[in-house]
Amino acid sequence: MGIKAQDIIVNGIILSTMDLGEADKRLVLLTKQLGKITVFAYGAKRQKSPFIAAANPFVCGEFSIVSTRGAYRLKSVRCDNYFRELMEEYNKSCYAFYFLEFVSYFAMENMDCTDYLNLLYQSFKALINEEIPDKLVRYIFELKMFTINGEAPEVYKCFNCQEDVENGYFSLIRKCVVHQSCADMKNIPLGPSTIYTLQYIISASLSRLYCFKVSNEVYLEFKKMMDEYRRIMVNYTFKSEVFLTE
Ligand SMILES: [Zn+2]
Repeated sequence: MGIKAQDIIVNGIILSTMDLGEADKRLVLLTKQLGKITVFAYGAKRQKSPFIAAANPFVCGEFSIVSTRGAYRLKSVRCDNYFRELMEEYNKSCYAFYFLEFVSYFAMENMDCTDYLNLLYQSFKALINEEIPDKLVRYIFELKMFTINGEAPEVYKCFNCQEDVENGYFSLIRKCVVHQSCADMKNIPLGPSTIYTLQYIISASLSRLYCFKVSNEVYLEFKKMMDEYRRIMVNYTFKSEVFLTE
């Protein structure tokens, strides 16, 4: 007598989809309960499929799945949000795809992905909100991802003298701020407002993350630092990065 597969309810977002033949799709889901998982959506490409709208990237909601022979199969979806506003604007959709790819790179099966899910949700809302430039949303998102991963740079104390740094440099070798007088190697200059911005992003709750704007000068320092920091922290080129507008 075989064991009957039980329905599992998971909450999350579709990170990516891949067509399988004429009718089916393979989905990668980021879920609160099971971390990053692969789910097969049979018949999802057929016109009359109940998954025709739901088996797509950005779709957020409650997914009913069954585990059979070591793989998950999609049974039903109760969609909370399609984030259609993101798909309607090309540039915004490029950023949103980049965020999905970035999270997908770090997420794993059976990992607690609650913070990733909340960060994606807040970042999509920030992209839709016209108040904050998309390119700034991107760097805030990246720094917060490193923070969630426990890989945030040290942005308070100088690596050399351990005193607070209000104005100075960022040392890529030490992954830490440094005073001008304490600096040893080639570093990236950071003014007081930029250092404060980094501190804010690292310490803010996810719901308060996108509540500020910066001058162009601060943006440029922040961008330069994050572009370099990402390069040393992530030994991988995201496919969606080439589509981002500066
Ligand atoms: Zn110092």
